Amino acid sequence: MSELSERFETAEAGAKQVGEKIRCDACPVMCYIAEGRTGACDRYGNVGGRIVRCDPLTILEHTAEAGSAVVSFAGEEWDGELVNTGRRFVTAIGAGTTYPDYKPAPFIISQEVEGVDLVTVVTEGIFSYCGVKVKIDTDRHIGPETATVRAQGEAVGHVTTGEYGSQMLSLGGVHHLTGGSKAEGRVTCETLLDLCNRKPVELAVDGGATIIVEAGKAPIIDGQMEHRMRVGCGSATIGMFATQWRGLVDEVVVVDDHITGVVSEHQAGKVLGWEDTGIKILGRRSTPGRYFKVSEPGVGWGGTTISDPLSILGDWNPKKGARPGLSLLMVSTTGEQFAYFELDDDLKPVEKPFPERLRKSVGLIEDNCEPALCTVLFVGGAGGSLRAGVVENPVNLTRSVQGLNTYVTVGGAPTYIWPGGGITLMVDVMRVPENAFGYVPTPALVAPIEFTLRRDDYLRLGGYASEIRTVEDIVASGGEYLNPRAQKAAAADNPWPPLQQLRRVPPGGAS
Ligand code: SF4
Repeated sequence: MSELSERFETAEAGAKQVGEKIRCDACPVMCYIAEGRTGACDRYGNVGGRIVRCDPLTILEHTAEAGSAVVSFAGEEWDGELVNTGRRFVTAIGAGTTYPDYKPAPFIISQEVEGVDLVTVVTEGIFSYCGVKVKIDTDRHIGPETATVRAQGEAVGHVTTGEYGSQMLSLGGVHHLTGGSKAEGRVTCETLLDLCNRKPVELAVDGGATIIVEAGKAPIIDGQMEHRMRVGCGSATIGMFATQWRGLVDEVVVVDDHITGVVSEHQAGKVLGWEDTGIKILGRRSTPGRYFKVSEPGVGWGGTTISDPLSILGDWNPKKGARPGLSLLMVSTTGEQFAYFELDDDLKPVEKPFPERLRKSVGLIEDNCEPALCTVLFVGGAGGSLRAGVVENPVNLTRSVQGLNTYVTVGGAPTYIWPGGGITLMVDVMRVPENAFGYVPTPALVAPIEFTLRRDDYLRLGGYASEIRTVEDIVASGGEYLNPRAQKAAAADNPWPPLQQLRRVPPGGAS
């Protein structure tokens, strides 16, 4: 049983015990926690008879000048000095949650920056509706679309539609978290937490591959680390490199699961005056020089099942240009697999030592491939009760976010807010400080969330005016959960504050 699983088990037991223990009310589990111990989620403890948030409140230091060096202070606690060369941003990491949310959020901070009076409301949101979208840069077939993805044998998501050069997974969501068995919910929660906190997770696709996914790292598929993302489909590869091959070889076939390209037939080859070769591709011809379905998807050449590239060729036609000695290059879309052939007297391709003259062009394909990475985007619905901790009338916050008058961040990282109703946000976990995500055993993920808006807007929306504090006050005296403050260097590409957006005059409001 994993550490997290044990905590899920003890959560229920803990909630029933009272005695000398004190109750944490930061989530619906309502743990009773003994002196010196922590609750089920490990985020709150009983220290001297008070509920204390165990991790420090994270305050990000933004360097004064764009592009100046960023030094990590990860793990260091605030040293008490108010030396600040740049701008500070109080994140929700370590802020705590006020559950249920009729109370104001743990910290409501005012800050004047370049003449703009801003308010930032921070809380650690409990996301019952949440999941991750995972992009895996690979051509390899990881499993059929809609196939179930498992962790520790439990269903945690599915394979979704592939993107250009990448396979995609959709993991988590309320149905896996709370709609299935307890084990399914527990494992889903653990999987999401690890992925969001940039830890490696092993996933198995039904009828497909086993993949180790870690945000910002290369995927490992069936034990093999993926190094390169394909340069493009076979047709795109022909388009990019046809001129490199002109005069060096009579025919080029770029093998790809999506579109296999043939240079002599392709528009790019035609424009360059490439002559017919009488080649025959065993696949479904889409347009000249572009073939679908030369093979089933797999882990061979160009994301196909092919290990012998000649298996996709039919008979060569002498009436259309095939002749003894005709030269042929076959290459995959990453340039990792390649082979050279010449037609013999019977017009059969015979593999020959790879000629030096073609090495540069194959190397060029490899050079143009980007490194293969796993990308993890956290997706959560913030349109629920946590809004009541920000303003008294929750729909005002939704409208302000949708109207771009309120800027939403997760641990200081910019988010993408989906158009339409609610507040459905998406954030790249690589832009969020490490270990910013937590969980509660309901099960749900806990993610830091900050809402920044102009002070006049905040008051107009029904914000908690009497709860507004300064950054200095928060640094000096902290908050309800008695935890220390820690400073960290902000990521250089996470802008603060978003003045360009917030400077604009709100509809019907003062400037
Ligand atoms: S699970 Fe964590 S947040 Fe919830 S009541 Fe227990 S200690 Fe508090």
